[in-house]
Amino acid sequence: MTYVYPKTGGHGNTLHRYLAEKALGRELKGSEQVHHIDLDPANTNNNLVICPDQKYHFLLHTRTEALLASGNPDYRKCYLCKVWCNPATMSQVKRKGAYAGKGDYFYHKACATANYYKNREVILDNRQARREGDWRRN
Ligand SMILES: [Zn+2]
Ligand SMILES: [Zn+2]
Repeated sequence: MTYVYPKTGGHGNTLHRYLAEKALGRELKGSEQVHHIDLDPANTNNNLVICPDQKYHFLLHTRTEALLASGNPDYRKCYLCKVWCNPATMSQVKRKGAYAGKGDYFYHKACATANYYKNREVILDNRQARREGDWRRN
């Protein structure tokens, strides 16, 4: 197999896949992804993690982001107020279908309630429209 490298920047960089394959002693499978621990794609020194799939790779990014933002890798960001918090105190939405690999997202119940009241008019209007069979009105 011939490798064209180095390609500049980004994940899935050919050089990184090459280095990972050298360390593994075999070719990477199509689903396997290479992650940079320090998030710096230019640093190839002891900086690569081989992820079995995109889901695991995404988890590493979420945990790294949580650690940098809140000091706790277990914390998750409320998608409504953008505050990092203990996920045990939040509601969790599981992604489905094409987004299943992208990880779940979290929100505070209080934020959802506040959001509901803020957008109450729109939500109720949409509900009414749906009942009338004209839900694409908005
Ligand atoms: Zn990564
Ligand atoms: Zn919130």
